[in-house]
Amino acid sequence: MSYKKSEEAFKEAFSVIPGGVDSPVRAFSSVGGTPPFIDRGEGGYIIDIDGNRYIDFVQSWGPLIFGHCDSDIEKAVIDRVKKGLSFGAPTLVETKLAKRIVELFPNIDKVRFVSSGTEAVMSAIRLARGYSKRDDFIKFSGCYHGHSDSLLVQAGSGMATFGSPSSPGVPADLTKHTLLARYNDIESVEKCFSDSRDGVACVIIEPIAGNMGLVPADEEFLVELRELCNRYGALLIFDEVMSGFRASLRGSQEFTDVKADIVTFGKVIGGGMPVGAFGANRDIMSHLSPEGAIYQAGTLSGNPIAMSAGLASLEKLISNPDIYSTLEKRAKRLMEGFKEASREFNIPMVTEVRGSMFGFFFSDKAVKNFDDALKNNSELFAKFHGAMLKRGIYLACSSYETGFVSTQTTDDMIEEAILMARESLREIVES
Ligand SMILES: *Cc1c(COP(=O)(O)O)cnc(C)c1O
Repeated sequence: MSYKKSEEAFKEAFSVIPGGVDSPVRAFSSVGGTPPFIDRGEGGYIIDIDGNRYIDFVQSWGPLIFGHCDSDIEKAVIDRVKKGLSFGAPTLVETKLAKRIVELFPNIDKVRFVSSGTEAVMSAIRLARGYSKRDDFIKFSGCYHGHSDSLLVQAGSGMATFGSPSSPGVPADLTKHTLLARYNDIESVEKCFSDSRDGVACVIIEPIAGNMGLVPADEEFLVELRELCNRYGALLIFDEVMSGFRASLRGSQEFTDVKADIVTFGKVIGGGMPVGAFGANRDIMSHLSPEGAIYQAGTLSGNPIAMSAGLASLEKLISNPDIYSTLEKRAKRLMEGFKEASREFNIPMVTEVRGSMFGFFFSDKAVKNFDDALKNNSELFAKFHGAMLKRGIYLACSSYETGFVSTQTTDDMIEEAILMARESLREIVES
């Protein structure tokens, strides 16, 4: 496979865009090599500007559950484009999309649309703080909730529960209200609650974590988390920007009976266009401007093109709910195949599947939290990623990302990927 055109394009992009990319992970920093520049998608494939074709397990990091160039979504977008791109005024399609979401989630009466997952989460946190009149909130290490200031937090030194900024440019003053707990560890959450001086406005969690690899929360942990929130009068936020409409039609809610007070969405609900959303019951949402005093706004929020793409996607999902069991079967087969291949070469691997989401770690121990995830063999992952790429398999370029199958990822494509995994591992072991 030649990457000549991508190599040149990367150099040229580098001269005018920091790192040559508009979102850091795309630069392949953790696996090395040149990221292929993509020319187009075709169903389950992407094709780069050198003409190389790959089976796409990234799917724009989650949104494309129907693969590339789905004819229904394409038609919805094109029909809408002809009426104008944006008005900054209400359109019918926003209400339609909101209704679809409200109908699916008993804990959501109202939804507000924004343009990214980051914005959805940032606004949900503000809503929780404004509603509860408290400043502190609890998040989990290894969970990602977008790049807004108070969420870019890493563990402080030692056993500190109060986080420190994980990026320069984030003042410590802005993260001092962010308390950090360990995923799947309820005692660490209790400690945060008791350490909080000002009171905890909310706990935010990815109920199916997809940003430290795929690490679902234990049911018992979620139940206890809900109880703790009730006891302390804190709101529970499920960040389902990735898992919403991906793990199942109701995101994590097919997997747990625990209900969150506020839920955030993104990715799939935009069908490939920039969309985020957050929803809650009528009482909580009534505190949002203009009904209430908590301010939140957006010039392009609820953009009709983006709403149309999202609505077309959701309507397809709602009318074909069996999609998820088919996708889960394929994701499970893929992970079984990867495991068989790694067993053949005595390489330890653990895998996880939730609906159309899959994850694997080169590790011999089940991964329950971020500390466990960090113990994976990331050097081996980098080699595996490169070996798969040159065999036409496009996997996420970090061992802390989740993979996805779409309705366009056929059984044959799954078998092809398994075969290539075996050959890639053979090449690594024999070199
Ligand atoms: C992707 C993601 C976000 C951020 O969404 P953007 O659209 O990239 O801003 C937030 N939370 C979770 C769980 C995500 O996976």
